Amino acid sequence: VSVDPLYDRVMLKISGEALMGDQGFGLHPPTVERIAREVKSVHDLGVEICMVIGGGNIFRGLQGSAQGMERTTADYMGMLATVMNALAMQSALESMGVFTRVISAIPMDQVCEPYIRRRAVRHLEKKRVVIFAAGTGNPYFTTDTAATLRANEMKCEAIFKGTKVDGVYDKDPKKHEDAKRYEEISYDEVLAQHLGVMDASAIALARENSTPIIVFSLDEPGGFRGILAGEGTYTRVGD
Ligand code: UDP
Repeated sequence: VSVDPLYDRVMLKISGEALMGDQGFGLHPPTVERIAREVKSVHDLGVEICMVIGGGNIFRGLQGSAQGMERTTADYMGMLATVMNALAMQSALESMGVFTRVISAIPMDQVCEPYIRRRAVRHLEKKRVVIFAAGTGNPYFTTDTAATLRANEMKCEAIFKGTKVDGVYDKDPKKHEDAKRYEEISYDEVLAQHLGVMDASAIALARENSTPIIVFSLDEPGGFRGILAGEGTYTRVGD
């Protein structure tokens, strides 16, 4: 069956923790492969895909600084962690025949490409999955903000935020049985109610360009593709 996807170019943001499986730390190759397969199934629809992967499965700047490390140094370590995750995802995607480029906000030419906006756009036009690594390249930011920044720069039509639950709830659905999922919610409501969709700077940046944020479950097999095909449950954060 041919499917006409809802969007032609999207950003997929996943946390580093999404790649660690049940291990509690680091990379779990079968989990990386499972997510790569989800990405491939969307790529097969002809959708142009940008990705940002966090680094929290390896290192978080705040944790480092809580243990006495200088904050900016710890943040750079966090950014380097995202490069490792990006390379793991690239490797999994390419083993499935999906051409992928890793582009780092911090140049490291032997490892991956530096970020040059026009070049990144060209990769997308050539249907390569583009993974943006090293966050924004600046300490005190998060990969949520990096995902939104790159989504705006690449003119993505939506930011897909893969999480453990199928949308934004009024309270934690894993703790409260009566938690209610929003079908749609505005950026302002997310900010006012401190709903943990993405950090506040990321939400504000998405609002700047009116880029909708689609919050969905990464644990639902076929979920990512389903939403692009007009199915499934999710929350749309928008105007
Ligand atoms: N980081 C940063 N600047 C950025 C993006 C990330 O300093 O633009 C650092 C920060 O220390 C953060 C770590 O990289 O804790 C890992 O990123 P993040 O916490 O966003 O990963 P996630 O929670 O999505 O796995």
